[in-house]
Amino acid sequence: MLDKARQLLQEIYGFDEFRSGQLEVIENVLDGKDSLAIMPTGGGKSICYQIPALIFEGITIVISPLISLMKDQVDALTELGIPATFLNSTLSLQEMNERLRSASNGEYKLVYVAPERFQTEEIFYLMQAIKVSVIAIDEAHCISQWGHDFRPSYLSLCETIQHFSYRPTILALTATATPVVSSDILHLLNIEEENYVNTGFVRDNLAFQVVKGQERNRYLLDYLKINEGQSGIIYASTRKEVERIFELLQSKKIPAGKYHGGMKETERNEWQEKFLYDEITVMVATNAFGMGIDKSNVRFVIHYQIPKNIEAYYQEAGRAGRDGLPSDAILLFSPQDVQIQYYFVEQSDMDDEHKKLEYTKVREMAQYASTQVCLQCYIVHYFGDECKECGQCSNCLDEREAMDITKDTQKVLSCVKRMGETFGKSMVMKVLTGSKDQKVKHWKFEELSTYGLMNAMPQKEVTQLIDYLTAEKYLTPTDGQYPLLKITEKGALVLKGKSSVTRKQAQKAHKVAIDDR
Ligand code: ADP
Repeated sequence: MLDKARQLLQEIYGFDEFRSGQLEVIENVLDGKDSLAIMPTGGGKSICYQIPALIFEGITIVISPLISLMKDQVDALTELGIPATFLNSTLSLQEMNERLRSASNGEYKLVYVAPERFQTEEIFYLMQAIKVSVIAIDEAHCISQWGHDFRPSYLSLCETIQHFSYRPTILALTATATPVVSSDILHLLNIEEENYVNTGFVRDNLAFQVVKGQERNRYLLDYLKINEGQSGIIYASTRKEVERIFELLQSKKIPAGKYHGGMKETERNEWQEKFLYDEITVMVATNAFGMGIDKSNVRFVIHYQIPKNIEAYYQEAGRAGRDGLPSDAILLFSPQDVQIQYYFVEQSDMDDEHKKLEYTKVREMAQYASTQVCLQCYIVHYFGDECKECGQCSNCLDEREAMDITKDTQKVLSCVKRMGETFGKSMVMKVLTGSKDQKVKHWKFEELSTYGLMNAMPQKEVTQLIDYLTAEKYLTPTDGQYPLLKITEKGALVLKGKSSVTRKQAQKAHKVAIDDR
């Protein structure tokens, strides 16, 4: 059967080799083993269920969360000569019945179904009428409450599957799952650990960059000028921002489109088509744009603001370079934008526990902008994996000299300690810089030996130093909206003088602080 799989890869898709993980997943599915496949965006997940679908008798049901994309996916398959259709709420009753009849007669190999529709009688009817050999669950992280895009209709899938009169092989697929989410998916779908195929999260054709302290519009326009004619996506966190950036680009005659949830569907689709067919090169969008879009030649993804978490960032940034060619993933960072994401969490209808988790995730995203470790490694660690330094991200290419900041670190850490590890970064900063703030007085922090210890440094720099020490895990914030800083084991070693700390930074002549003289 594996020879057949290879033959189909060449004959139908025109590819010579399977990509990492594809063959392993296909082999599992052909052996009837329920599996979970984790592959990076653009890794080639679709082939993992499409090839078995062509080999097996009967049909494969593909659960896909976005109705608007099903048509595109089905069109693409039809073009390859693979008989496929979709069932979702955009169809009339008559069309739905016709498609069901054709599916029952074995006229399709793949049937795409929205998760909401999976609970309906039609599916039970289909299961009786024809053998469903595989159920592929795309974007499977939507099953987990701990994922970044939890959907209750996905969770009910698990239960519905239990009620079928027979059990097709299940294949869950996703590009973004932390270890907690992966184990949740395995558990909820009863998939055995040994059938968990993880090709790793590394995207070695992406050059990750964090841009700080620059005028963002200027940066963007310069970048677009240098990369004129290249296709790319600019993500902004609000509809208003999308409109503003879109107008800015239009005023500079840059062929750009826009996409956000506040626009009419027809208008959104028009821009999307134009982007897909290269009539425009740049798409300015909120996170409503892009899930499942298979545009292979996206050369850059620029985030004008930070997204809500690393999962979302990696998924969005990962839309660059699906063809494997070198591409840029750039984050334009400004500390104020973190507040926008906090605000979204605050306004959401999540329960308190969930909110707490989301605040922490926003913070981990913000730390991405403060760390000096390899950016690809930072992301991969977040997903619970290890990797070699990429050698091409803005941190790997940062040639500034690393300076010893052990002394400053000790000042920060001992201040945190003296404050009982029960305050957040802004209060720690105020004490260190000798602020006359009422709260500092109220807590009698003026009496601490660390009060004003860093008064020669501007407040902003002390805040950045605390952010750096947090990103590098000398300090750890507690969960929640108002996190308290605690000293980690790594930090404790520095306090005891058992290890040193370095940081790359521009050399600056500071006023000499009193106790440094
Ligand atoms: P994912 O769903 O994992 O993001 P897709 O299944 O959409 O990725 O595949 C991404 C791109 O890679 C598509 O353009 C696809 O045609 C291409 N692709 C998939 N498998 C291979 C392969 N074995 N060799 C070359 N290209 C491939």
